[in-house]
Amino acid sequence: MTSGTPYELPDVNSWRPAVWANVPDEQWNDWRWQMSNRISTYDEFARIIHLTPEEAEGLKAETKFRTEITPYFASLIDPDDPECPVRQQVVPHSRELAGFEAMMRDSLGEESHSPVPGLVHRYPDRVLMLVTTQCASYCRYCTRSRIVGDATATFSRKQHDAQIEYIASHPQVRDVLLSGGDPLTLPPKVLEDMLRRLRAIPHLDIIRIGSRVPVFLPQRITDELVGMLRQFHPLWLNIHVNHPKEVTPELARACAKLADAGIPLGNQSVLMAGVNDHPDTIKALCHALVKIRVRPYYLYQCDLVAGSGQFRTSISAGLEIMEALRGHTSGYAIPVYAVDLPGGGGKVPVLPNYLISVSNDRAVFRNFEGYIATYVQPANYQRPKRNKWTGQSTEEPGQKGVASLLAGEGMVIRPEDWTGTHTRGRDDDQAGTGGEASHVLKPDIISVEDIKNARNVEIAPNGDEPVWARLN
Ligand code: SF4
Repeated sequence: MTSGTPYELPDVNSWRPAVWANVPDEQWNDWRWQMSNRISTYDEFARIIHLTPEEAEGLKAETKFRTEITPYFASLIDPDDPECPVRQQVVPHSRELAGFEAMMRDSLGEESHSPVPGLVHRYPDRVLMLVTTQCASYCRYCTRSRIVGDATATFSRKQHDAQIEYIASHPQVRDVLLSGGDPLTLPPKVLEDMLRRLRAIPHLDIIRIGSRVPVFLPQRITDELVGMLRQFHPLWLNIHVNHPKEVTPELARACAKLADAGIPLGNQSVLMAGVNDHPDTIKALCHALVKIRVRPYYLYQCDLVAGSGQFRTSISAGLEIMEALRGHTSGYAIPVYAVDLPGGGGKVPVLPNYLISVSNDRAVFRNFEGYIATYVQPANYQRPKRNKWTGQSTEEPGQKGVASLLAGEGMVIRPEDWTGTHTRGRDDDQAGTGGEASHVLKPDIISVEDIKNARNVEIAPNGDEPVWARLN
C-alpha cells in the first residue's frame, strides 16, 4: 500500500498484438484511441486472428449482429485457439446464424413491460432504464440484440425525459438500473445530467449502472469519470465478466478506482457452453473477482435470444457448478444462479436442494459434503402478526404473489382463465358443490375474506385472525 491510497493501483499490462506494436503507450491507454480504433471487418480480424472457416463465414454474413471490439479486448484473444473463451464471446461464428427451438427476438418480454419506450417496469419497486443502444464492444449472445448496436437508432433526450418523468411519478420505484447498451459509453455530460435528475427524485433510494466498459475499455475509467459518478451516491455498479482471462491488471485498476470512490461493485456472468461451463472455471473467475473487490452477483442461464443458441447449456450444468461452489469457497464468492424467465417473468434463482425433509418440529438438511443433520425447530414460535417497525409502504397492488399466501392474505393464486377451464363452461350458479351456488371468486388472488364469505368453506378461528381454511 502507498501512503494515502487505500489500495495500490495495479500496473497496466502494455502487451499488444503485432499489428498495434508501434502504438505508443499514451495512445494505447487512451480510451478515445481505443474507441476509434475498434476492429469490425473481416480484414481487420484476419490481421490479428487466424480465423477458422466458420468464423470467416460469421464475419462475412450480412445479417450478423454488430461486430466491433476494442484493440485492448482483442489483445486478450488467443489468435491460434478457436476455443479461446474471449474469442468466442466477440468473434462471429457461423453457428450464431442458426435458429433454435423457442428462439425469440425479445425473450425477456421487455417491450411488453415498458410503460414508456426503454423503461422496463417488471418488479414492484424497481425499474430498468435503457439509456443507449451503443456499447464499447459487442457480445455475440447479447440479450438485447434487437436494439443494441444499431448505429442509427438510440434513445433521445425526449425519451430520457419520459423515462425520468415516469420514475418521478411512481413513488413505489426506489431503485433504478441504468443499462442499454452501455451507459458508460454516453457522453459524460449526458450521463451526468441524467444522474443529477434521477438523484433529485426523493423516493429513489439507489441508482445502479450495468456496464461492460470496465471489461472492454478499462481505460475509460478515468479519475474524471469516477469523480463525476461519486457525486451521485448511493450509486452501485455491476460489471460483466464471464471468464478469468478477462480479469486483467487493466480491469483490476479500473475496479480499484471505482471501489476507492465508494462504488459497490458486483459482477454478472452468463453461463456459456465452451466459455465458462465448468465448475473450476467459474470458481477461478469468482476468486479473481473478489480479489479485485468485485462481488459475484449473478450467473445467468443463457437467454432464448437469437445468436445465443451455440452458447446455451442445460440447467443441470448450472446446478453442477453451484454444487461445486457452495461450501467449497466463501459465500462472498458465490453468485446466484438465475434463469430470467421467458416472456418477462423475471429472474428466478436456481440452486441444489439442501432441505431434504421437514416435519412440524424438525427440518433435515444435507450439506455440500453429504453430511445430513436435523434442525429441531422451536416448539412455540409464532411469526409476528404485524411488523412493529414499518417504513411507509409503497407496495403496488397485484404483485404480492406467493408472499401474500404465506402472510395469510389469500389462499390461492390462479391463472386468469383457470375458473373457466375448470368449470368446463358451466355458469357460476351451477358450478358449486352439491348444486348450490358457489361464491364467485376473484380471478387472481382469493382473500381470506372471500373464503369467509363462501358458503362451502369452513374457517377455524384462532384469536382475531383465521389461521387456516378448508375448501370443501
Ligand atoms: S455489453 Fe451488454 S448490452 Fe452490450 S453487447 Fe454485450 S451484453 Fe449486449
